[in-house]
Amino acid sequence: NRKVVTRALLSVSDKSGLIGFASALAQRGVELISTGGTHKALVDAGLAARDVSELTQFPEMMDGRVKTLHPAVHGGVLAVRANPEHQAAMLAHGIVPIDLVVVNLYPFEATVARGGSFDDCIENIDIGGPAMIRAAAKNHGDVAVVVDPEDYATVLAELDVNEGSTTLGLRRKLAQKAYGRTAAYDAAVSNWFAAAEDIETPTFRAIGGKRGLDLRYGENPHQTAAFYATADVRPGVSTARQLQGKQLSYNNINDTDAAFEAVAEFDPAQTAAVVIVKHANPCGVAEGATLAEAYEKALRCDPVSAFGGIVALNRPLDEEAARRIVGIFTEVIIAPEASPEAIAIVAGKKNLRLLLTGGLPDPRGPGLSVRTVAGGFLVQGRDNVVVDDMDLRVVTRRAPTDAELADLRFAFRVAKHVKSNAIVYARDGATVGIGAGQMSRVDSSRIAAWKAEEAAAAAGVAESFAKGSVVASDAFFPFADGLIAAAAAGATAVIQPGGSIRDDEVIRAADEAGLAMVFTGYRHFRH
Ligand code: 5GP
Repeated sequence: NRKVVTRALLSVSDKSGLIGFASALAQRGVELISTGGTHKALVDAGLAARDVSELTQFPEMMDGRVKTLHPAVHGGVLAVRANPEHQAAMLAHGIVPIDLVVVNLYPFEATVARGGSFDDCIENIDIGGPAMIRAAAKNHGDVAVVVDPEDYATVLAELDVNEGSTTLGLRRKLAQKAYGRTAAYDAAVSNWFAAAEDIETPTFRAIGGKRGLDLRYGENPHQTAAFYATADVRPGVSTARQLQGKQLSYNNINDTDAAFEAVAEFDPAQTAAVVIVKHANPCGVAEGATLAEAYEKALRCDPVSAFGGIVALNRPLDEEAARRIVGIFTEVIIAPEASPEAIAIVAGKKNLRLLLTGGLPDPRGPGLSVRTVAGGFLVQGRDNVVVDDMDLRVVTRRAPTDAELADLRFAFRVAKHVKSNAIVYARDGATVGIGAGQMSRVDSSRIAAWKAEEAAAAAGVAESFAKGSVVASDAFFPFADGLIAAAAAGATAVIQPGGSIRDDEVIRAADEAGLAMVFTGYRHFRH
C-alpha cells in the first residue's frame, strides 16, 4: 500500500510554506506541475516546474475560473493505477499520473470576513480546487492530497522513511481531512448566501451581524426587515427571553430597545424605575420606592401617549406593578426578571409580550451605533456618559437646592434618551412634560410645557405640573427664549450642557427669573 510520488500538482492560494515544501519534493526527484500564480512563485524561487497549461494544452481562462478542469488533470488524479482499463485510457489520451495533489482554496471565508463586495465573494468561490481535492481524496488508494500547509512536514517525513512513498494510512487521513475542508468551505458559501439576501446591507457584514429573526415587515408594511445580532451581547431586547405574546415587530424591537436602554440608567440598588416609550421616545419616566409607585408616576406624565406603549423596568417585575401595567393597553413589558405571581398576572393578557433579560445593560459600557445613509453608513461609539460622572457647574447666582439637584440629574438622565431637540420637565423623580424631536428648541420647550398642563388637567389638577419643576435640555439653549419659556411655565431650575456663544445672555435671563442653572459640559444629541 505504499505509493511512490513521482509527480505533484501544486495549486495554492495560501502560499505559505510552499517554496520549502516544493524544493524538498524536487530534491527527492518529484516532478512539479502548477497553476499560474503558484507556478510563478516556484519559478521565481528557482525551481523547475511545469505549467498545468502544458498538460491541458489550454490556457487558463475566464479570470482563472477554468485552469485545471480538464481530463489531462482529472484523469491523472482519478485513474486507478492497478486497473488495466484506466491504464489503457491514460495511454490512449496521453494522460500522465499525478500522485500528490497540493491544493488550498481561494480565500472565500477571508473575503467575507473583510467585508468584500457581493461580486468579490462570488469570484472567491473556488471551483477547480475543490474538484481536485475531492478527486484526489476519492482516489486516495493511489494519490495523496494535502489541503493544509501544516501537513507539508508530515508528508516529507513520510517520504523520507518510505523511500519516496506515501502509506495508505497517511493517504486516508489526508483524504478525511480533505473532505472536511471542502464540506466546511461549501457550508461557508451556503451560509453567506443565506445572509446575503436582499435586505442584507454592507453594514451588517462590516459589523459582523448575524441574521436573527425574520420580521414580517419593517417600519411600514411595504418594507422588508430582519433582525441581526452582533457580537455585542448586552442584556436587552436582542437576547431577552420572551415568555408570551406575538412575535416582536420591527417597531416593537426598536421601541423596546429605547425603553430598556433608558431604564438601565437607573441603578436598581438605589431606586425602582419605569420608562414608558412610544415611537422610540419616552412619554413617561419615573423612579420610586416600588415599581408600582414609579409606574403610576410615569403614567401620569402622559397617560394618552402611554396607551399601546412599551414599559421597561429596572427591577424584577412584581405582582403589584404587573397588576397596574395590565390595567391599560400595553404592547411590551421588558424587565430583568419577573416573579411567578407577576408572570401569572401578565398571562391574563394573551397579546401582551413579556420579555425577561436576566440583567441590565451597563450605561457606561462600550458599543457601536450604526445608521445608514444613501451610499454608506455612519458608525459611532455609544453615548455612554452618565450625568453622575459629570462635573456640574452652577452658573447662576442661586445654586439649586438638594431637591432641585436630584431632579436636575434625573431630568438630564432622561433627556439623553429623548430625540433632539429634547426638553424634559421633571418633579419629584418623575417627568411631568417631555418635548421631543422638534426642529427648534423653543418649540420643544413649548410642547413640554403644554404637555405638563395637559397632564395636570388629565389628573384633575388645576395648576400645571410644570409649576415647581426643573427642566433639562439635551443641548445648550442658543438663545434665552427657550429658557424664558421654561421659567414662564413654572420651572425653578435648569440643567443644560452650556457652551453657547450667548451663554452670558442665557445666564442673565436665568438670574432675572430667579432660576438656578447648572452646566454639565456634555451634550446628549440623539437623532
Ligand atoms: P494560482 O494563483 O496558483 O494559479 O491559483 C491557485 C488557486 O487556484 C488555488 O486556490 C486553486 O484551488 C485554484 N484553482 C485551481 N484550478 C482551478 C480552476 O480550474 N478553477 C478555479 N476556480 N480555481 C482553480
